Amino acid sequence: MGVDLFAKAGLHQAEAVLRAHGVDAFFRAAAERTGDSHVVIDGRKVLMAGSHDYLGLSTHPRVVEAAVQAVRRWGTTVSGSRPLSGSLVLHAELEERLAAFLGQEAATLTNSGFQANLALSALIGRDDLVFADARNHASLVDAARLGWGRVRRYRDLGQLRAQLAAAPAGTGRLILTDGVFSMDGDAADLHGLRALADEHGGTLVVDAAHDLGVLGERGRGLVEHCGLDDRVDLISVTLSKSLASIGGALAGPAANVNYLRANARPILYSVAVPPASAAAALAALEVVEAEPERRRRLWELAEGLHNGLRGLGFDTRPSTTPIVPVRFADMAAAGAFWAALFEAGVFTNLVGPPAAGTAMLRLTLTANHDETHLATVLEACDRAARRLGVPRVPDIPEVA
Ligand code: PMP
Repeated sequence: MGVDLFAKAGLHQAEAVLRAHGVDAFFRAAAERTGDSHVVIDGRKVLMAGSHDYLGLSTHPRVVEAAVQAVRRWGTTVSGSRPLSGSLVLHAELEERLAAFLGQEAATLTNSGFQANLALSALIGRDDLVFADARNHASLVDAARLGWGRVRRYRDLGQLRAQLAAAPAGTGRLILTDGVFSMDGDAADLHGLRALADEHGGTLVVDAAHDLGVLGERGRGLVEHCGLDDRVDLISVTLSKSLASIGGALAGPAANVNYLRANARPILYSVAVPPASAAAALAALEVVEAEPERRRRLWELAEGLHNGLRGLGFDTRPSTTPIVPVRFADMAAAGAFWAALFEAGVFTNLVGPPAAGTAMLRLTLTANHDETHLATVLEACDRAARRLGVPRVPDIPEVA
């Protein structure tokens, strides 16, 4: 007899536990959206403090107009992959502009950031080794699993150094890291990673999902922030956060990008980015360059949120970015806090293992928010903590 394939653990289990506590936090559908500052859910207008539309460009008139014009001109989809019927001059233009923006020779598009990372599996042959940060995003985890080679997960640079040193001679060594870790909001030590990659002949790939448009003088991301623009082997990009669209890209030296164009299955066998999305991302790129004050605004609010929460006794470490984590001892406590904030008109992201190391709420304010919104979030957090009596700095056992 077989077993029930649908009986495995998953989000539905967490949902059931939370529902038993009266918490309904996932797949909550918005009936309306006011930029990314507010949404209407179940007739209630709530402040959106969990969007990654960092620069607030998804409702920017230039971005919206570009998308509308592209639909009129090219239709809703190309219904084909890039190498066959799905390429538009718009795609080529976006690839060129993205590469130029990132200070790279070339870029190639994929239809999501997730797929951009999965495309990296084309680099991993049977005799190759993958070294992956233990906190990497699920799509990098899956890229490593999809490749043929063996995977080593590291928790810090010391462990990575030992793993690299133990790698048999003649093996390919692919180092995969988030630029900014999507749950904890801290940045990878790129200088350290580059040095180890150089020492051991490794190829370094950085996922810039949460740092593109956010970090760096011109918003080029963590590589720019670290002055390593020309020292990474590939940068993986999503169009879905600061670029207010959907899609992804891999950028780097032309030879590396061309290899992926010829070998990566998400590029070869999946539909190209829809015209509206490509046009929106192109327009968003222009706005990122033309309106640097949006990045300043994002950071002012991020600092306000970190400082405000710390002032109230919460601990937002290790984050150093607009991704602001607030941790709890378990999912029940985090769920209760989520519900209290929702009641108070603030939507946050409730996350826990395996996505995050611990139960937590992940808060982000975007360039579409203001000081009043910041005050609303802080007050809601203070009240929820008082009402529920949860410790503001919970006792969380170290995960082995
Ligand atoms: N990488 C990281 C670090 C992410 O956080 C995400 C999405 N949250 C992705 C990749 C996937 O991007 P997309 O949503 O465009 O598929």
